[in-house]
Amino acid sequence: MERKVRVRFAPSPTGPLHIGGIRTALYNYLFARRHGGSMILRIEDTDSRRFVPGAEEYINESLAWLGIGIDEGVREGGEYGPYKQSERRDIYRRYVKQLLDSDKAYIAFDTPEELEAARAATPNFQYDASTRGNMRNSLTMPAEEVKRLIDEGTQYVVRFKIDPDREVKVNDLIRGEVTVNSNILDDKVLYKSADDLPTYHLANIVDDHLMEVSHVIRGEEWLPSAPLHVLLYEAFGWSDTMPEFVHLPLLLKPVGNGKLSKRDGDKLGFPVFPLEWHDPKSGDISSGYREQGYLPEAVVNFLALLGWNPGDDSEVMSMQELIDKFSFEHCSKAGAKFDFKKGIWFNHEYLMKKDDNELADLFMPVLEEKGIAGFSKEYVAKALGMVKGRANLIPDLWDQADFFFVAPETYAEKDVRKRWSAETPAIMEELIAVLETIDDMTSANAEKIVLDWIESKGYHLGNVMNAFRLAVVGACRGPHMFDITELMPREEVVGRIRKAVERIPVPEK
Ligand code: GLU
Repeated sequence: MERKVRVRFAPSPTGPLHIGGIRTALYNYLFARRHGGSMILRIEDTDSRRFVPGAEEYINESLAWLGIGIDEGVREGGEYGPYKQSERRDIYRRYVKQLLDSDKAYIAFDTPEELEAARAATPNFQYDASTRGNMRNSLTMPAEEVKRLIDEGTQYVVRFKIDPDREVKVNDLIRGEVTVNSNILDDKVLYKSADDLPTYHLANIVDDHLMEVSHVIRGEEWLPSAPLHVLLYEAFGWSDTMPEFVHLPLLLKPVGNGKLSKRDGDKLGFPVFPLEWHDPKSGDISSGYREQGYLPEAVVNFLALLGWNPGDDSEVMSMQELIDKFSFEHCSKAGAKFDFKKGIWFNHEYLMKKDDNELADLFMPVLEEKGIAGFSKEYVAKALGMVKGRANLIPDLWDQADFFFVAPETYAEKDVRKRWSAETPAIMEELIAVLETIDDMTSANAEKIVLDWIESKGYHLGNVMNAFRLAVVGACRGPHMFDITELMPREEVVGRIRKAVERIPVPEK
């Protein structure tokens, strides 16, 4: 019987979620939706020393912004909860006991100093079958002493007892079969009495089992843990229902070799976090895709293609198209270079496709920040609609559309020199008179009337139109002039021409 697809994204709230983590969440989501399965968000917060306040909210907000839906989680609820590991202590305690009772794990009392001494005495020391017999643990100490120490409150850890000389096979849906000899694995700590919490490995395996996870889809950096996980499933007697493993390729630096880092982003000027992050300790602010003016659809599309391809040459794909096409067959083993310029390209494509009203909603905060008020959403939407083809990021829209909201205070010198001559002021006065006679200011109609007037007077078309544009826009740039004057109130247009006539000095003849 085909197993029901259940996947989980299992971040640790140790800081802002990196864009690579988002890619992992996205692939989990795409796979779940492709197969009508469930997407779980599990918070792996068993390492209390690394807990960072705000990180969990950040994860939720990032996923919500990107439209990566969660079916089961802390906020969503679900039948397999709690979905936060720090709330599952009782469960883990039970499974730690199961391993101890079945002799698959043991208790160790070695202090940090003793471990340090062992490392100093033996080159490449590893706590394993070859060394555990010389250490202070329940395998070497009499049972009564172990009990006495525990009763006295001595701190201990529980270690996984790994059998030596075993070939451990990990089946990975992207990488195929990976075999590792168990001798390279150490007796990993599974539980610490000091905080009564399991470590990542135990909690992760127990939860994947209990939550009936079918596929573990995560970053390549977790591949070295996989053999240990296979052995843990076996130790618990769960090998038959072990999830499939899928280790996703690394995200690599845009230039040079190695893993993408925050430093690359700082150096080349792109964010490595989905949302802006304010570090609660240092107060440092790291930039985010959202605040830089990216559209979530563009970020999703861009990330989806970092390590996967649709098998054809489609590039711009909606979330639904990504879902329909997603499979691990087209995931690569090799790392994916983080081509941030491609991300900007995607954003441009999505800005052009975006509905003007929605764009207006996104642009309102930019206007607000500049202290600009009093424009209807309809006006903003129409203005943006005219310029969006020239913008990559939302703030670029301001650079293109500013004149729709504020009259020019200065006029581009080069354009003035070229287009404003001694005759211009008189011609502009005439233009005002012409504009004031037009009843219907729609673009084509106004254009026809103004061009007829220019022609009847024998004026130079380019000079008149560019002077007109200079007066209204402040420079010879922007969309079609009569589209502008269709939207802008006539008094505003006329006022701007008058102001230009007053302000722009007339050159000597
Ligand atoms: N808590 C781990 C992380 O932060 C989860 C790794 C996994 O998916 O198994 O990525």
